[in-house]
Parts: sequence; C-alpha cells; structure tokens
Amino acid sequence: MPRFRQTKEILKLMEKKERIRNIGIIAHIDHGKTTMTDSLLVEAGLLPSQIAGSARALDYLEEEQRRGITIKTANISMLHEMGDLSYLINLVDTPGHVDFTGKVTRALRAVDGVVVVVDVVEEIMAQTETVTRQALEERVKPVLFINKVDRLLSELRLSPREIQTKFIRVIGDFNNLIELYGEPEFKKKWRVDPAKGSVVFGSALHGWGFTLNIADKKGIKFGDRDIMDAYKNGKHQALSRSIPLHTAILDMVVKNIPSPVESQKYRVPKIWKGELDSEVGRAMLNCDDKGPTVMCITNAQAVPGEGLVATGRLFSGSVKEGDKIYLVGANKEYSVKKVSLYMSCFKEVVDRISAGNIAALDGLDLARAGETIVDVASRQAMMGFESIKYVSEPVMTIAVEPKNPDDLPHLIEVMNRVSIEDPNLVTTADEETGQYLISGIGELHLEIAKNFLIQYSGKLELAVSNPIAAYRESILQPGAVVMARSPNKRNKFWVQVEPLESEVAALMDRGGFTEEMVREQIADALPEEKESLWAVDKYKNLLVDLTQNVESINEVKDSVISGFHWACRNGPLCEEPMTGLKVKLVDAHIHGDPLKRESTQVVRAVSRAILGSSLTVKPVLLEPVYEIEVSTPTEWFGTCSRIMIQRRGKIRATEQKGGLTIIKGQIPVAETFGLSAEMRSATSGHAFWQFVSGHWQKVPESLAAKVIKQIRERRGLPAEIPKPEMFVDEISLPRV
Ligand code: GDP
Repeated sequence: MPRFRQTKEILKLMEKKERIRNIGIIAHIDHGKTTMTDSLLVEAGLLPSQIAGSARALDYLEEEQRRGITIKTANISMLHEMGDLSYLINLVDTPGHVDFTGKVTRALRAVDGVVVVVDVVEEIMAQTETVTRQALEERVKPVLFINKVDRLLSELRLSPREIQTKFIRVIGDFNNLIELYGEPEFKKKWRVDPAKGSVVFGSALHGWGFTLNIADKKGIKFGDRDIMDAYKNGKHQALSRSIPLHTAILDMVVKNIPSPVESQKYRVPKIWKGELDSEVGRAMLNCDDKGPTVMCITNAQAVPGEGLVATGRLFSGSVKEGDKIYLVGANKEYSVKKVSLYMSCFKEVVDRISAGNIAALDGLDLARAGETIVDVASRQAMMGFESIKYVSEPVMTIAVEPKNPDDLPHLIEVMNRVSIEDPNLVTTADEETGQYLISGIGELHLEIAKNFLIQYSGKLELAVSNPIAAYRESILQPGAVVMARSPNKRNKFWVQVEPLESEVAALMDRGGFTEEMVREQIADALPEEKESLWAVDKYKNLLVDLTQNVESINEVKDSVISGFHWACRNGPLCEEPMTGLKVKLVDAHIHGDPLKRESTQVVRAVSRAILGSSLTVKPVLLEPVYEIEVSTPTEWFGTCSRIMIQRRGKIRATEQKGGLTIIKGQIPVAETFGLSAEMRSATSGHAFWQFVSGHWQKVPESLAAKVIKQIRERRGLPAEIPKPEMFVDEISLPRV
C-alpha cells in the first residue's frame, strides 16, 4: 500500500512522457530557494502548511536543519493539475551554497529545466550567474522566479513605477546571462518573458505569486494596487489563497519546461558521446521505454542500514527489481535490489520506473555520481556520458587522526563513505606517513565533512586539525635532462620535465570522469604524441615516452608510470603535488635480468629523476585563489575593501545596486581563515560575501620561502630545499 495518496497516479503518469517535467531549483544563497520548495511540498501534501518555512522538508538531515543550508541532493515526485490534465513534476533538489557547486552540476544532468530564484532586493548575484551558466552549459532551460516582492512593499515602500523598474532590470540582467552563456540555438528561444509566462513574481515567505497570465485571469495588474493594499492593511495572508505560489510556479514549469521527450532530442547529443544513429542512441533521443536501459547516476548516498542508494535519470528503457545491469565506469555487473521513488526523505518502493523519470536504485555499491548504467545486453554498445564538469577543485585540507590507533581501519571506512557521498571531497590515507587528509572547497565544506565524519563514526574519537590551504608546485621553464640510477645501480633513466602546453593544460582543466577518458581526449588533441603518451596524472601532469629502441622498456612501463605518479604527488619543494608538468622519458638502460629491474628499483629511479630535473629550474609554489564577491551597504564599503587588501586580496570591480555596493575581486585561500568573523564584526553583520574557487597563482617570492619552510617543518622534512644533485647522478643540457 503506497504511503502517499499520489503514488498510484504518479506511476500512471510516468508512462505519459509528454506530461513529465524534470526540474531543479537554483538560487544564490538566501534568495529563498528552501522557502519556495517548501511551498511546493505543501501542494504535494508532503508537508503540513503550518510547518512550511520552518520544517524544510528537503533539508532532512540534522546537519542541514541545524545550519539552515541544503547539503544533500534529495528528490521528490509530485503531481500538478493544469487545465483538465495532471502532470508529473520530478523535483531534483540542488544545494544553493557555493561550497557545493559540484552537487548542483550533478543534479543538473537529471533535469530539463530550472527555476532560478532571484531575491528582488539583491537582484542577480554571483551564484545566480554561476548556477545559471552551469544550467545553460548542460542545455537545461531556465525560468525565473522573482522573489521577496513583499519586501519592496512593506520594507522599502517603493512606488509602483520603482517596482516596475526593478522587475525590468532583473529580467533584463537575467536575459543577459542567457545571451552570454546560452548556446546560439537557444539564446533567443530561451529568453524569459512575462508575456510568455516564464517569469513568476511573488513572495515565497507569504506563499503568493503570479504569472502575467494568472494576473490577467484574476484581474490583477502589473505593479498592482490590490497587492499593495493587502500589505498596507495587513491582509497579505489572503493572497496565498487567491494567488498561491505553487500554482504560479508549477504552471510556469508545465508551460515552459520541455517534457523529456522533447528535451532529450537536443540534450542527448550534448551530454552523450556515443553513436546517435544506433539502437541505444535512437532510444535515448526518443526517450523510448522499450529501448535498452540507460540511466545516468547523479547522486549516491550511503544510507545506514540500507547500503548505497544511487539516484539518477533514466534516458531510455526501464528498470525493475532483479534487472541485470552494468556500470560503465566501474566496469561491473549487478542485479538491482530495489527500485524506488523519492518522496522527500521517504522512499517509496515501486515495481518499475521508465524512461524520462528519476529513479533510486539499491544494491549497486560501486555506483557514483556521474556513472552510467545500462542493461547487461547493451554493455558492448554503450559509452559513458560526457563527464560531468565539476567547477570547483579542493583547495583546503584538514588532517584527521583517531585518538586510539586501533580505530584506524574504521576511520578509513568512514572517510571512504564521506567521499562516496561527496565526490568534491578528496580523502587521502597515507599509511606510511600516518597522514589521513580530507580536502574540500572551503572552510564550511570541510566543517560539514568533519561533522558527517563524527556522525558516521559512532563512538570513534577523532583529533581533527584546523584547515590549511592546499599548495601546488610547478615549473615555469624546461628543466635539464638528468639521469638517475636505480638504488641497485643497474638501471638508468634519462628524464626531462617542461611546462605543459597551455592548450593541453586547458583540456585537462575540463577534467573527465575517468583518467582513461582524459587520456583519450589528450591523445586526440596531440595525434603525434598519441603513441608515446603513457600516463596522465590527476594533478594535471603528463608522461610521454620518447625513448627509441630501448630493450625491455615495455617490461618496466608500469613501474615507470608509478614513479611518475609518485613524483607528481610529492613535489621537490615541500612535497606538495606538482602540477602542469610534461615529463619526458628521454632514454633508459634497463637490466636484462627481471630481478635486477624490479618495480621498486624503477619507481625510485624515475621519481628521483623527475624531482631532479624540476629542481634544475627553481620550481615555484602555487596557491589557490578564490573569486570573491562582497555585497555591503555602501557605508561599509571602505571597511570591506580594507579587510580584503590587508589579506592580499585584489579588487577588480565595484558596482552599485540600490543602497548596496558589490565588490568583485580575488583573495588567496590561505588568507580567508577567520575572514568571516572579521567581516561580520567590522560591519555589524551587514556585509554578505561568497567565494568561488578560481585558479592557482604563484605565491609572491617574499612569502614563498616562509610558506615552504612551514610546510617542510610540518612534514618533518629538513629545513633546506634539496639540490638536484641529491636526486640524480648526471645533469646535462637538454638533448636535441
Ligand atoms: P535559500 O538559502 O535560497 O534556501 O533561502 P531560504 O529559503 O532559506 O531563505 C533565506 C531567508 O530569506 C529566510 O530568512 C527566509 O525566511 C527569507 N525569505 C525567503 N523568501 C522570502 C520572501 O519572499 N520574503 C521575505 N521577506 N523573506 C523571504
């Protein structure tokens, strides 16, 4: 027996593809995404109206409730009636906070449209731009909800003309984003327009909203008197009955967001690399239930007592319990244990879910966000989806240690679970050095990771360090060709490092789902090096083999690659990862006896040669830099700028929006610790700011030596940076 009255009807609608809408809601933090989502849940009967706005049903985890931000992606299926027809709305929840933009990106893969919530007082902000851009890049169509209109009336007391000017500006700025980031084909088609019903004006807090169409029907005019009067007379509650927000939003969605049948025709060619004119390709383009099963996983969560639950979008075919399926990335076959629908935090087990819908599957322990699922029969014909691009790279690290060393295995297990759920966290366990590290995108991201760690680890007692910025090492010019012998002196490797070509570096920035995929992309871009490209490192380094007629080279290839990876992880300056290197294996002498050329011998020699060649050209230390945007009442502009500059920040632009000044600039991650507290107290809590991971930049000379010294000390390394001679046996000029 279904727990929710709608389940039966939802199951029926799943088969009527043209009446399905898969949507997400995205917003700059605090613009009202959660409040708006709650009002939709009230409509779906999933949340009693009196607790909407406080219960935050999608934020069901304790941690989210406590902090009032949305972390986990949850999904919900619900019904909406329009005219005489019912529609099925699959709402995929996307986190609104910048530290979790990776999650926004993954959730976008599952939807065809997004409602972008914009606070009319603050207007379009940094995060509005970032998330709208990401949606457009995935060919996801945006529509606009202009929220907090009540504040214009009751707080700012603007005149109808001023309100109208504000509306026009927000719509204009929003369309500029579509013009800027939309693909040529969609720039015009996707412009939002109140006349087409693709803009809702309203107040999520007070539960009302209208499209122009609804306003017409109800006899309400733009810049309307009725609404103003309702606020003047304290009667705005009536608005939530006469023009309820959920009706306006869901009407807008049904009218403007395409059904999966329509959308997959243009989205599949963008997000899937396989042959479109094949059985699988055609089934996906047509969203065909009868075709092979193809599902893209957008979220994986380890649920205590249930194991891993993978949620994603079916692009073709269907899935039911017991189906034999294949995970393309993990290269593994499974049998599906359970198929369910998500109703907020509740999972409703169902018999079958078909193309165009969102499904949750149990029993696939290796499924990760970004993974592709196909039925076993189609595994040969299938390629993975284009990698989902993650916009942020981990730039901050904490070290974790169990108070009792016996708890180590348990800690590793828990760290593993945390990193499954959030692929934007990178966990490294180095048993040799006893370092257990978690890297994330910002302070808040890591604090939440830490709390999950504590929550998942039960009684395990942990010591957790304060966060520190991540660093990288790199070179700016080609190093010398150097030769290093293996510890047994029987093997020699000649290596030269040089900075990676900028086009290749850009390709690597785009990233990929697996190392293999990145390698293929690069091989395509560098046909003449296709054969010699041996390895690609996750820190963006390449290994190419330029040796000629070296005997037994293929026998030691794997060990050479291991040596390369080892050196990339442990740079010569202070053992931070190296980035942007092209490592050329120039020549080698390899001992004929396999026992004399065993792996450890080769790994040691190759890694030492790479470090040695890098040291011949004075490697540089790189630090991560955030893009920062501060929005402050103008009177605190000076204070905010001063704080930024004192922390080595750079101001690129300032902009005036009403009484607010927006400062755009950059700030090194290492300078952001404690920034929140300082800004808050200096502006009495009036300044609001946020970061987006930007790029890596060279640490100024004056500071680099100090930072390197600190890192070396922390790692227990000798104070002196090593000389190339300490690693290699011979240094010669570059060979031509
Ligand atoms: P999110 O970060 O985008 O999920 O934003 P929330 O839904 O948590 O809203 C942030 C704050 O704005 C909360 O204090 C809400 O009560 C408030 N808020 C949301 N919508 C409205 C609105 O329409 N009018 C007013 N005045 N406040 C709102």
